[in-house]
Amino acid sequence: MDLQALLDEIAVAVAPLAARGKVADYIPALAGVAPGRFGMALVTVDGELFGSGELHAAFSLQSVCKAFTLALVLAADGDVLFERVGREPSGNPFNSLVQLEYEHGVPRNPFINAGALVTVDRLLSTTGDAFGALRAFLRAESGSTSIDLDPVVAASEAEHGHRNAALAHFMASYGNLENPVDVVLDHYFRQCAIAMSCAELARAGLFLARHGERADGTALFSRSLAKRLNAILLTCGTYDAAGDFAYRVGLPGKSGVGGGILTVLPGRGCLAVWGPALDKTGNSVAGVEALDLFTTRTGWSIF
Ligand code: GLU
Repeated sequence: MDLQALLDEIAVAVAPLAARGKVADYIPALAGVAPGRFGMALVTVDGELFGSGELHAAFSLQSVCKAFTLALVLAADGDVLFERVGREPSGNPFNSLVQLEYEHGVPRNPFINAGALVTVDRLLSTTGDAFGALRAFLRAESGSTSIDLDPVVAASEAEHGHRNAALAHFMASYGNLENPVDVVLDHYFRQCAIAMSCAELARAGLFLARHGERADGTALFSRSLAKRLNAILLTCGTYDAAGDFAYRVGLPGKSGVGGGILTVLPGRGCLAVWGPALDKTGNSVAGVEALDLFTTRTGWSIF
């Protein structure tokens, strides 16, 4: 199969779709990104790169980073995190307060904002510097030593982060945070503000396609934990549209409101897409369509 030709074809096919979506503007620093931009990168487990469009343009990871934070916590602690966070799809918006109240401060899964805050909190406890640990991991796995946060996005998130602050305080009231709320929020906002390209992201995610094996050949965690993380990506990784994403794309994946989506093709590689115009559920319109076309044409879904 000519993968490069396929990616080029897909980039042309999805170009008109950006007009159907809307760039996230609840974090003002994200609002200025042009909706029609698009990039796509496939990195195989052997490290070969294929790509089309703006595959080397950096974009704001936002919630995509949560896949990596969870990986680091599972690596440090095994799955004890799930005593404090569930692992079921939420069926609610990613920043919902209502569900957290009904469920007594225990977030439904690690990828909604409340669950991601608990995960960052745990990484803070195990490392002393959650953001630093995440950045070091992303640099090591991608081989790009310059990966960093965008300070303007981080400041914008902190300034407009009232809802995340409410979630964090609410969980603290139930004793579900180990560190001070303001410290947890600071690390959370900074991790979401990390900027990476599709090519870097696909490479950084390869441990997920290699059953836990890192870029240097060591094991981040067991094959069983790699399975578990991929399962949570499939069932909870794409907001309240994880069912539709599994139906259309059929791959574990994590999306973010910056318009990026990282997907895992177990045993084969990782495919990352970026298109900043989002659908109503918060997923990239062009990105989901590109992934749908890719798995339809290659037959490389997990099903
Ligand atoms: N930093 C964003 C927030 O907390 C992440 C949202 C997302 O990408 O889902 O609202």
